[in-house]
Amino acid sequence: MYTITGKTGDWEVVIGLETHIEVLSKSKLFDGASADYKPNVPPNTQVGFIGTAMPGMLPTLNRECVNQAIRFGLAINADISRRSIFARKQYFYPDLPQGYQITQPANEPPVVGRGYLEIMGDDGHPKKIRIERAHLEQDAAANKHDAHPTKSFVDFNRCGVALLEIVTFLDTKDPENREYITSPDEAERYLRQIREIVRATGVGLANMEEGQMRADVNVSVRRAGSNEFNERCEIKNMVSFKFIKTAIEFEARRQIEILESGKAVERSTMHFNQNDGTTSVARSKEDALDYRYFPDPDLLPLIITDEQIEEIRKTLPELPAARRARYMGDWGLSEYDASRLTESVEISKWFEEAVAGKPARAKGVANWMITELFAHPEFEMKPDDLAELVDMIASGEINGKIAKDIFTKMLEGVSGTPRGIAEKHGLRQVNDTAAIESAVDTVIAANSPQVAEYKSGKVGLLGFFVGAVMKQTGGRANPATVNEILKTKLG
Ligand code: ADP
Ligand code: MG
Repeated sequence: MYTITGKTGDWEVVIGLETHIEVLSKSKLFDGASADYKPNVPPNTQVGFIGTAMPGMLPTLNRECVNQAIRFGLAINADISRRSIFARKQYFYPDLPQGYQITQPANEPPVVGRGYLEIMGDDGHPKKIRIERAHLEQDAAANKHDAHPTKSFVDFNRCGVALLEIVTFLDTKDPENREYITSPDEAERYLRQIREIVRATGVGLANMEEGQMRADVNVSVRRAGSNEFNERCEIKNMVSFKFIKTAIEFEARRQIEILESGKAVERSTMHFNQNDGTTSVARSKEDALDYRYFPDPDLLPLIITDEQIEEIRKTLPELPAARRARYMGDWGLSEYDASRLTESVEISKWFEEAVAGKPARAKGVANWMITELFAHPEFEMKPDDLAELVDMIASGEINGKIAKDIFTKMLEGVSGTPRGIAEKHGLRQVNDTAAIESAVDTVIAANSPQVAEYKSGKVGLLGFFVGAVMKQTGGRANPATVNEILKTKLG
């Protein structure tokens, strides 16, 4: 359990995430204008009549965006509402000429209802994170304040592009249920999992650095072990995993300090300062906005049929949870290993290429990936090469120590396959019994006091002898053979 130690004891953190995903579709949510607004597209060339509030224009809901939402909903095991509505949420901003955002109101069923996904919890076991809803809404345009010394600009390319807002659930009526995020690391794993699902299903690109995935982070703290929920603050518009983790930790400590000094946390919207990693109050509850939601009179309710849902279900790819189950069931991986190897489609793909349908390899490949490759993300090893290395260990051609030496050489840029490198540098395991016996004899002769101790019952010294023989053979002896011969010779 992740806790923060304050002056008066330990505190837990409760986190709720509202994740905005830009939906991939040809056109915008309510009009036919192109939804291609990427940074390289010239500003104001993908402008829609609806988003720019041209008089008399009527919105038409984009079916593909709805299908994308359903696709995501099915991937998170969610209930799909057969009927939902769109409402106007009032704002006055230059990037929203309509004067309102068309969205699905919080007090009505959204297109995607309750669902969940599984992340690896901090204890190394899968943890369910419940999702309350995912709804469709319009994105706003982009204000540009840094293009001119005295002028601000608005680029409407993004205005009206579909967003899917995904909100995590925490059930205040069922305080025993802890299926929500309780640490900065879990927040990151949840967001990565969302990103993977969005990418795997083709619902979006979800590049945070391009703003296609943004998160509002709600944080509250409570005494370790407590089931109460305290007042929370919300950090808006976060677009980096690293900053999200920093922000959560800083915000939690800020709240702990307030509570420990006997004051109360006030519900506030927080701003994260990238320069120093702190959060500060942007606006407090007193001036909370009243959005005056009301149903959009220009839009009919959204009706979804069972057939539509079943058609979409057929198009779903294998999702991380299913892959994880397959790795554990078919290939005997631990929960932890399976979770690590399904963190992204790229990782899974690489892993499966290395295993290449040979279950006996899976555990070895998994170990090397998790302990070595993840520690050297800059190293672009070929799956075939790791497979060869793992096979060489399994067949007794090399031992673990030599494998590590070969791996280090590859890491340092030595070219060639593991077997090629082993041959070139004479890195073969010594399996020759006679050679090992002679090394054992040398070690026994040089360590008579330890031999006497061993013989008088201190069998724990075996490891010492194994180490000495390995050293004697330059780390190349077959450890199993060394063990065997030592045991015989030491009696
Ligand atoms: P709002 O309408 O202010 O956006 P919601 O009720 O939709 O609020 O909640 C937004 C997010 O905040 C959800 O993910 C929810 O689970 C989370 N949340 C609610 N209460 C708390 C709390 N006490 N601590 C942390 N997160 C919370
Ligand atoms: Mg909110």
